[in-house]
Amino acid sequence: MKFGGTSVMDSEAVERLIQIVGRNSSQNTVVVVSALAGVTDTLTKIARHAVKAQAGKAMNQPEAPDEKHLDMTDEAAVLTSGLEHRHLMMAEELLAGNDVLLRETTDIVKQLFAKLNEIVRVISVLEELSDMSMAKILSYGEILSSSIIYKAMLKSGLRCAFADARSMIVTDAKYLKGEPQTDIICRKVPELLDREFLNNDVVITQGFISATADGAGTTLGRGGSDYTAALIGMAANATEIQIWTDVDGVHTTDPRKVDKARSISVMSFSEAAELSFFGAKVLHPATIQPAVEKNIPVRVLNSMQPDRQGTLILRDDGVHENGVRAISFKENITVINVFSMKMLNAFGFLTRLFEVFGKYGISVDLISTSEVNVSMTVDSESSLDGIITELSQFAAVSVSREKSQVSVVGKNLKETTGLAKRIFGAVSDYNITMISQGASDINISFVVNRSDLTAVVGSLHSEFFE
Ligand code: ADP
Ligand code: ASP
Ligand code: MG
Repeated sequence: MKFGGTSVMDSEAVERLIQIVGRNSSQNTVVVVSALAGVTDTLTKIARHAVKAQAGKAMNQPEAPDEKHLDMTDEAAVLTSGLEHRHLMMAEELLAGNDVLLRETTDIVKQLFAKLNEIVRVISVLEELSDMSMAKILSYGEILSSSIIYKAMLKSGLRCAFADARSMIVTDAKYLKGEPQTDIICRKVPELLDREFLNNDVVITQGFISATADGAGTTLGRGGSDYTAALIGMAANATEIQIWTDVDGVHTTDPRKVDKARSISVMSFSEAAELSFFGAKVLHPATIQPAVEKNIPVRVLNSMQPDRQGTLILRDDGVHENGVRAISFKENITVINVFSMKMLNAFGFLTRLFEVFGKYGISVDLISTSEVNVSMTVDSESSLDGIITELSQFAAVSVSREKSQVSVVGKNLKETTGLAKRIFGAVSDYNITMISQGASDINISFVVNRSDLTAVVGSLHSEFFE
């Protein structure tokens, strides 16, 4: 059972979590928690302030090096103490009435913040923020939340053990988006769980954070707690993977974008994977893959309304309904157009092109090609300058920013006659710059101006679901 940021955002949310877990305690349960809502963002800011503030100061008013770390980056310090206060308050609210647990927890939280402050200070003195240091800083969000929730579970009487995810979820050394080493994970998870479940019904651990085989801290990338839950589910041969979040399951589109979005009761692994890959934040894009491996059903549920049905995600042949299932989008993407007369009747051109993207580790979402043109979308601005410089050496390159990508996802879309007419009829008032029908048969995607996104998604939604 994975609980996301909003499902652990305050003491009331944690009380609900404990009730939900308690209802299930006849079965062995692994509880995976995220950082409290907003904490990972704040930690990112703290790290950035820490490096920036000193760099700024060094430029404007040179000072003796030993004075620098004394007034450790004011903004970082303010944010850190705000976070400390929030976690201490939460511990107090959850553990009131049990002095021993409260004192233990308060001590843990204070120690964790003492260490975090030390790291922030070192970064600010060194004026250098490596991915490794960033991963270390980000890990505090999940360590803090899980430490407090663990104690609250003990207080409630659950037979519960605490496990450090970094001892099970092993990745390569890409610190901010580690690639899980599934062989090792499949060995370590059952080892740990078999041991802990001898005397406990529940094991609580952290989402998102991981480590290399040598023990250096890494993360699975933003939103990665879902992925942790799926990896543990796979490694433990779980009967079900439950993702508890702040909406009633996967919806026909993001309910924050379209009021009339409605919950989907059953969908297939492929549809869910495609939806998340093409932008639906409700699941981390890699979540489904470990579930497919062992054919473990994934349920997406609402921690604020635990009795609602949510969404059940099953293997593809268990889902029979054809047609459009949902609309996902990526709000801010960039289109890169590459033009070269050399492409005409030439071979090796695309290889050369994608080698450049491979070199910078940037994945391309949509591609469409003609004889002399390739258009691609990317959802990351990082490394774009380097990529453009290299591409420009053998082709003319233009870049369009402020674009959004919309994907219509469903089953057997290619066989659904008249679908393109319905999709493009619904959005005929808007300029569409690129169209790509997924080779997978379950998605049709296109690019629109970012300023048109809300209207485009609204029109499509009313065409298919209202
Ligand atoms: P958590 O903190 O629980 O991981 P997230 O914020 O990562 O929660 O994901 C839940 C959010 O995903 C919802 O609040 C919703 O706005 C967004 N979302 C985007 N697309 C969809 C969709 N198709 N169905 C449901 N939620 C969606
Ligand atoms: N706390 C992490 C994040 O905000 C992981 C997660 O919530 O899934 O990205
Ligand atoms: Mg999430």
